[in-house]
Amino acid sequence: MRAVDLILKKRERGELTKQEIDFLVSGFVSGQVADYQMAAFMMAVCFNGMNRRETAALTEAMVNSGDVMNLFSLPGVKVDKHSTGGVGDTTTLIAAPLAAACGATVAKMSGRGLGHTGGTLDKLESVPGVSTEQSEERFIEIVKKTGLCVVGQTKELVPADKLMYALRDVTGTVESIPLIAASIMSKKIASGAEGIVLDVKAGSGAFMKTEADARRLADAMVQIGRSMGRRTAAIITAMDCPLGQRIGNGLEVADAIYALSSKLPLTDPLMEVSLALAEKMLMFAGAAENQRDARARLTGAIESGAGLRKLADMLVELGGDERYIERPELLYSTRERVDLLSERAGYVYSMRSDEIGRAAQLIGAGRAKKEDSIDPRVGIEMAVRLGDYVPCGERLATLYINDPRYAEKARRAILSAIDIEDAPPEKKPLILGAVE
Ligand code: URA
Repeated sequence: MRAVDLILKKRERGELTKQEIDFLVSGFVSGQVADYQMAAFMMAVCFNGMNRRETAALTEAMVNSGDVMNLFSLPGVKVDKHSTGGVGDTTTLIAAPLAAACGATVAKMSGRGLGHTGGTLDKLESVPGVSTEQSEERFIEIVKKTGLCVVGQTKELVPADKLMYALRDVTGTVESIPLIAASIMSKKIASGAEGIVLDVKAGSGAFMKTEADARRLADAMVQIGRSMGRRTAAIITAMDCPLGQRIGNGLEVADAIYALSSKLPLTDPLMEVSLALAEKMLMFAGAAENQRDARARLTGAIESGAGLRKLADMLVELGGDERYIERPELLYSTRERVDLLSERAGYVYSMRSDEIGRAAQLIGAGRAKKEDSIDPRVGIEMAVRLGDYVPCGERLATLYINDPRYAEKARRAILSAIDIEDAPPEKKPLILGAVE
């Protein structure tokens, strides 16, 4: 087999066989297929797509490129959730402890934030002492003890994705549904998940800008999961404005603590999405019979504090200082706070959440490059949501900053990301659909 023939075949819209896809992926990881050949192949996939069989074969080849976590010593169905990335999206730190408190086994590997979207590992590490780099043995030990553990991926897990993603990033081949679907699902499958619940975001702050594309991505991922014997379901949710009111690492952990301490109403968007995900996790784990039963158990775990206890237990097992759970405001104590005031009266008509996420990144909450360091305390607290009426001079948001150099640029970016008009926008649901 020659890589060039397979590139030509995809260029001419042919269907590649499993053996051909294995050849490309394993050859790329071993260095026998050059990066320019893999880049050309992925560009052909961007233009001509892949069918279900090819996408499943690509995922399997990526899983087989490295280690697969062995979670057989853990009891029950191991459930996981994954979000395709958003702004103010702290659902993992709410849904996972709640699901664990209701009897699910949650052994989860997460990623770091890059660009305008946040990452669960950075959020967890905003709690002093927490380390998300744990050995496989320690990870399993923590899950056995608490029913919940969220850690970073080991280097040996899906090396093909690391190499392919780095190449996609610099060759304009990120936005391809089969490539995104295989990248996400290969990591979920290799990390040992048996039940996978996906939150596919659609809108200004997401990879998928339209609901139709988000549905296509959700369909592709659910198909892959099922073809590999995993229970898989997806919800499609709007990312037209930040999901939670707090954006930034310590701020988002504090938001999760507030959510788990009954300080957010169940109708809050962050709660709505977290509960919808946790319901499916419970059903996959066999810990609830139906959605109603799952909802009742989850709200019970909020009221009793059992969900918060799970989060605290996990943070302590990861080395964290428990005092921050009792005083979450310490997680976002910064040298300065700057209120951003509305320059006119009217309704909040639209918000470009990617720009708000980039403003958070600018003041130090995120990285522009992988090797950048972040400031765990800084971020943005939104004071308004889509459709709210704001008088002139009213607070729209607050910046939590330690370095005032970027405050003015962030202030301007946030104000220009929020459109205020005379009439309110059309009301849209937050949960746009589901693929089950
Ligand atoms: N997240 C991933 O893990 N992979 C992609 O390709 C896109 C988002």
